[in-house]
Amino acid sequence: MAAAAAAQQQQKMAEQEEAEMQHGPVPIEQLQASGIAALDVKKLKDAGLCTVESVAYTPRKDLLQIKGISEAKVDKIIEAAGSLGVYKCQPAPRQRLEIIQITSGSRELDSILEGGIETGSITEIYGEFRSGKTQLCHTLCVTCQLPLDQGGGEGKALYIDAEGTFRPQRLLQIADRFGLNGADVLENVAYARAYNTDHQSRLLLEAASMMVEARFALMIVDSATALYRTDFSGRGELSARQMHLAKFLRSLQKLADEFGVAVVITNQVVAQVDGSAMFAGPQIKPIGGNIMAHASTTRLALRKGRGEERICKVISSPCLAEAEARFQISPEGVTDVKD
Ligand code: ATP
Ligand code: MG
Repeated sequence: MAAAAAAQQQQKMAEQEEAEMQHGPVPIEQLQASGIAALDVKKLKDAGLCTVESVAYTPRKDLLQIKGISEAKVDKIIEAAGSLGVYKCQPAPRQRLEIIQITSGSRELDSILEGGIETGSITEIYGEFRSGKTQLCHTLCVTCQLPLDQGGGEGKALYIDAEGTFRPQRLLQIADRFGLNGADVLENVAYARAYNTDHQSRLLLEAASMMVEARFALMIVDSATALYRTDFSGRGELSARQMHLAKFLRSLQKLADEFGVAVVITNQVVAQVDGSAMFAGPQIKPIGGNIMAHASTTRLALRKGRGEERICKVISSPCLAEAEARFQISPEGVTDVKD
């Protein structure tokens, strides 16, 4: 009898664990069950905190800045979030299992990326104009919708376009290649044009509220730095620019942590103006300095090869070797080089 009860209990715990794993982030409304008033939950939501996890990721001093939430309430909210388990450690293997790779469309490129672009972190793609950054983003918007066993992420994509180069018709061509219905693919891509850096940051609040409602696998910002170059000019504004950019990148990382989406940002390059250029030919470097370098978990550099051929190099990654792969831009998006 006792054995049956124990088995039942075990089964219940397994089911609970399974449910936790499948449902991902906990909607902020759940705090009401732990004694937080609906009005306070709304205030948190208005401040962009849409999940219980986001409470854990926000420093206490920032929670204190939310209008209408007193210090005592902040502590009550933190305690309520804790009671829902967001500050708990979890077994390392499980954390790794939740990370998946989204195919780039090229087998050779996927092989140096050990499967593709990983979810739950920021991947930065930098390179000069026409090197294929935007084309790779378009391809990922389609492949992220594929089933897991086909290298997909089984989720929607959100595209923040700072340069006005998003083209839905490209997605239709790419969808065809993967045997997906074009209209469905477009339906699963949420798009927003960003007009300035404040607007670009505000769009992330909107992104969080959309990600609570539906499963997103990918979030793109193309490009993450373009508007910073126009909004902040000259040396005098450099430190304000870097601070703004750091905050934006931190919010992106928060989305990656909270919703397990793959965050892909593109970045432009400028000519490097130091002595090294004299010896090694013209050198280029990505924009955003150390702030950008530290925020990106994986950095990929693209450069042009012959014709439509492009080369991708892994510049920094916690787990990938510094290898190079060739790929091609074709009407069907990113593909292997067709020799
Ligand atoms: P930028 O810094 O200017 O934004 P980028 O790195 O984003 O550049 P992309 O726009 O991704 O560059 O790549 C442009 C390249 O993609 C061009 O060489 C173009 O010829 C190629 N390209 C775009 N559309 C197609 C298509 N339908 N078929 C084949 N090649 C295409
Ligand atoms: Mg581009």
